[in-house]
Amino acid sequence: MANFRALSLARSYLDRDAVLRSNPAALREFRAGSLARFLLVHGRGVVGSDVGPRYFTAAQLRESFPRAAGDDVVPPYLGHVGELGYFAVDAQSLGATAPGRASTWELDGMTVEALTLHAHLWGGLDAALAAAAVAIVTNNRTQRFCATCGASLTPVDDGFHARCGNGHVVFPRTDPAIIVAITNQADEMLLAHNRAWKDGRYSVLAGFVESGEPLEAAVRREVGEEVALDVQDMTYVGSQPWPFPRSLMLAFEARVEATTADIRVDGNEIATARFFSRAEYREAVAAGTVGLPTPTSVAASLIDAWLRRE
Ligand SMILES: [Zn+2]
Repeated sequence: MANFRALSLARSYLDRDAVLRSNPAALREFRAGSLARFLLVHGRGVVGSDVGPRYFTAAQLRESFPRAAGDDVVPPYLGHVGELGYFAVDAQSLGATAPGRASTWELDGMTVEALTLHAHLWGGLDAALAAAAVAIVTNNRTQRFCATCGASLTPVDDGFHARCGNGHVVFPRTDPAIIVAITNQADEMLLAHNRAWKDGRYSVLAGFVESGEPLEAAVRREVGEEVALDVQDMTYVGSQPWPFPRSLMLAFEARVEATTADIRVDGNEIATARFFSRAEYREAVAAGTVGLPTPTSVAASLIDAWLRRE
């Protein structure tokens, strides 16, 4: 982990404040008070700018987004920083239409920034709050029915759990996915192009963890399936949320004994893959034949760490 740049959305510890969260009456009172702040979530982003999310007081929120005035939807409580407590408000639950997949857009005259655009430049706590807000709002908008009996769910109290009419309690879901930076004996980096991506996009390998599977096995399996290489050893690097819609990325660095000639891509998910030296990678980026990964992604951090290890 030497020289590793902290993962963009996981640089600071957000105190999720179990004490206030578990006291519904105190939480309601706090939410109505002067120390409550609200992030306005719209799809993959929050209202804000290149310097960070915008934090609304209740009055500012009603003024800027009048639809919030009649809000009877529970805004999830994200936690506190100092004396201020933070809540997430879902613009779509208040009638805003679903946004597309742009990185920045307008909402009622305000600017929304996707977490993928500038969050790596925001303060660590700003990024942590925005990631938590997008994650829980997305979960509550899409996890609508009880997994046990199929009845409708109603979010309760803190917004971080829900109940169905038959008394089952349902918690937000997170899907673990491994992401792995593979280097060989020459310290070249393996980068692959996925068929689903636009031309020129190369990145490290990633894939969802399967039921009952340890993370280390998921790394070996994904590398075997996608490029037919054997992982010699691996190191866990860190994790960050990627709430599009609900992934938790678990990052590894792994070593293989191989060259590009040894790679056999699956031809299904992966179209091409090869090892790059640092010079080759920089030349390809400069020439525009290889595009950079999303700047807030784990892939960007892993590639950056490799480049700086020179
Ligand atoms: Zn149920």
